[in-house]
Amino acid sequence: MTAKSDTPNGVSSLPYPRRPIVILGAGIIGCATARQLLQNGFQVIIVGEYLPGDQSIFYASAWAGAAWHAAGGLSEEHRYLQVVTHRHLLKMADEPESGVCMVNAREYLEEAPAKNSAIWGRTVVSNFQELVPGEFPSNFNCAWSYDCLVTDPTKHMPYLKKRIESLGGKFIRQKVSSLEELYSMFPDSRVFINASGWGSKLLRDVRDDKCYPDRGQNVFLKTSNCRTMYFRNGKEYTYVIPRPLSEGVILGGIKQPNVTSPEVDMDIARDEIARAHRLAPGIVPANPSESDLSYIVGIRPSRQGGFRLDSEHVGERTLLSAYGFGGGGYAFSYGIADTLLKMVEKAEFENVVASG
Ligand SMILES: Cc1cc2nc3c(=O)[nH]c(=O)nc-3n(C[C@H](O)[C@H](O)[C@H](O)COP(=O)(O)OP(=O)(O)OC[C@H]3O[C@@H](n4cnc5c(N)ncnc54)[C@H](O)[C@@H]3O)c2cc1C
Repeated sequence: MTAKSDTPNGVSSLPYPRRPIVILGAGIIGCATARQLLQNGFQVIIVGEYLPGDQSIFYASAWAGAAWHAAGGLSEEHRYLQVVTHRHLLKMADEPESGVCMVNAREYLEEAPAKNSAIWGRTVVSNFQELVPGEFPSNFNCAWSYDCLVTDPTKHMPYLKKRIESLGGKFIRQKVSSLEELYSMFPDSRVFINASGWGSKLLRDVRDDKCYPDRGQNVFLKTSNCRTMYFRNGKEYTYVIPRPLSEGVILGGIKQPNVTSPEVDMDIARDEIARAHRLAPGIVPANPSESDLSYIVGIRPSRQGGFRLDSEHVGERTLLSAYGFGGGGYAFSYGIADTLLKMVEKAEFENVVASG
């Protein structure tokens, strides 16, 4: 992508704007960021062991639900990252190829919303309504209905790859053992983004021991009745997430910290179907035909204390870290990408103007 331009003393004289930004990781975080950077004129190279379209359990972005759902317990800054994501997804929902769709959501709570709960999302979604008793099952404390954005990762990741390539971005399929190895592949680059998810536990010079795998397993039920999302929050955590573009719904959820088995656990699958049936009997039959079912296993790249989103100097390079998004990588994705864009611009300012 860039011609390497060395002076006689061995120091690269390549002008800063011709030095590509290098992203490690082609999940939703790396790809959303690449798109934002490319749309703002930066050159971008993405390096990843797994790329859009791949299906390893360690490539979380292939397996997400993925509903935009306001999370509870967030700081105002983190809420805003989700707000920005919602803004981008809302725009993409106009393009069916993006895999982003608007559906109706019905959320049932076992207890009244606690302080700092997910109810802040009412200021973001459209058509938010508190349901009155009689409009929701009597075993719940309260319920909401609203318009909700869902992303079908089987469509969205290939869409992003196409979009990135059409903007001039490049993908390189390669596993690296360290960030140093990445730096040596791109000696001219000055900005590197570590969006390697679970990989940050294993990279030799990162070895972030706060990272841990959090296994998820979902059921995909083929059905044309897939325009309403159901969400149960409380002691039991169950969702039915529509995938209209794939003619089905995703039934979940389960979290198994520190479990990495790729095998489908049929006890979990049966339990998810039973819970989803109780939640949405109009969509999920008690005993769906096996031919309508398939199973999803993926490892959420979680991190104790929450995700990393920060910048540091490593010699003459700027290293941005963005990983550890656990079960919320899609809901945070475009907000993270916009923040990383600002961090890359700050590095550009420091390299081009402040050092001039
Ligand atoms: C069952 C399930 C349901 C989910 N539902 C939702 C949901 O409804 N909403 C939501 O917001 N989120 C959901 N998630 C979470 C979401 O999928 C993740 O948070 C998100 O995909 C993380 O993206 P990422 O880009 O950080 O990591 P990943 O998608 O895992 O990508 C990591 C990238 O880094 C690369 N990499 C790592 N190490 C190396 C290395 N050494 N060399 C080269 N490349 C490397 C990988 O190959 C890959 O390209 C769900 C996850 C699961 C498993």
